Amino acid sequence: MDFTYPASAEAFRAEFRGWLDEHLTDEFRSLGGTHLDMDAATLAAMRRWNALLADARYAAIAWPTEWGGRGAGVMEQVVFAEEMHRANAPGTINVIGLSNIAPAIIEHGTDEQRRTLLPRMLRGDDIWCQGFSEPNAGSDLASLSTSAVRDGDRWIVNGQKTWNTLGHLANWCELLVRTDRDAPKHRGITCLLVDLTRPGVEVRPITTITGEREFSEIFFTDVAVPATMTLGPVNDGWRVAMTTLAYERGTVAKLHLGLRAKVQRLFEAAASAPGPRGAPRAIDDPQVRRLLARCYVDGELLKLVSERAISGELHGRGPGPEGSLAKLLWSEADQQLTAVATEVLGAASLADRWGRDRVYSRSLSIAGGTTQINKNIVAQRILGLPRG
Ligand SMILES: Cc1cc2nc3c(=O)[nH]c(=O)nc-3n(C[C@H](O)[C@H](O)[C@H](O)COP(=O)(O)OP(=O)(O)OC[C@H]3O[C@@H](n4cnc5c(N)ncnc54)[C@H](O)[C@@H]3O)c2cc1C
Repeated sequence: MDFTYPASAEAFRAEFRGWLDEHLTDEFRSLGGTHLDMDAATLAAMRRWNALLADARYAAIAWPTEWGGRGAGVMEQVVFAEEMHRANAPGTINVIGLSNIAPAIIEHGTDEQRRTLLPRMLRGDDIWCQGFSEPNAGSDLASLSTSAVRDGDRWIVNGQKTWNTLGHLANWCELLVRTDRDAPKHRGITCLLVDLTRPGVEVRPITTITGEREFSEIFFTDVAVPATMTLGPVNDGWRVAMTTLAYERGTVAKLHLGLRAKVQRLFEAAASAPGPRGAPRAIDDPQVRRLLARCYVDGELLKLVSERAISGELHGRGPGPEGSLAKLLWSEADQQLTAVATEVLGAASLADRWGRDRVYSRSLSIAGGTTQINKNIVAQRILGLPRG
């Protein structure tokens, strides 16, 4: 692991910090912890903030300049994540769109698709969701069965998707459909860009264990999609779908920044909560201190794994299994931390933000690749073990 912040990244930090000082008002800062279940007023404020970022080319700095980015290198992306975190600034609305869907459109889309779709996604004018998972196709995504049949210059889509983050707010979807039932399962899949306001689309929000709506089921009944909205070649949707994160290397830095801030928040809470066994403050109790130390070490370990990934990127190694390792450590550390919070702060804390965070953290070992799938990747690609 070997990297420093070059002068250009520090110059970018100074410039961006100045911009945040000028534009991040208290109203926008208060949106910092907003979850995805927004009321209309919060969504409108998020859109205003998102548009400000986009107009100043800060919404997706790693994107190519011609599409509204800055073509920023990895250290600028790390600096950007650090400064957003330091200022407690809210991010953009299209959490999935900018990092996962746009790279596929930039790489595989037609000029018309890029020109009409990317600027509106960047500003948060359109909200995008990813329609990959189905009730019987999650980890084994290639088993998906939502179908599209060609009818002249359009596709007719039928089927069901589920767990679509932001689906309850989205008006566009990157949709994976089966277009050749006779081909091997990874082959006969095509990627479509679907306007969710079309007739035959029904979006049913899902309320999670936290009581919030953050994703949906989406049902498609004879939905007509123009053939011009095919993303990449027909029956090559698997390759298109795998084009993710190519423009977003700073993501890995966000994981440790968020986790370590939560560890700090728990330290502060433990310093003002009464301790067990008669200790005036929880943080003075030896057992509590042992638990907190473990959380602290988890956060520092995640930082090292992130820095190793960043260093690898700077030294010309493509994104590797470090991503799976970081995802594993992060999800397990967050679950551990929120469980420790209950132990240290007592059952009453379950009724406040710690309680919400604790039940929410269960989803982290499923979203974006489950713990078991990531362990398989680490076993095969880092440890060199044979496929089970
Ligand atoms: C917060 C959140 C947001 C999400 N957002 C989206 C989204 O925007 N768009 C979208 O399309 N999907 C989304 N998903 C869905 C997510 O991608 C799937 O839940 C995930 O891929 C797992 O699929 P599954 O739920 O069908 O579980 P399954 O794949 O059925 O897995 C069930 C269990 O079996 C284990 N398992 C499965 N296969 C193996 C294997 N080969 N080896 C060992 N163990 C295995 C899994 O680890 C898991 O424990 C989201 C999920 C969550 C929780």
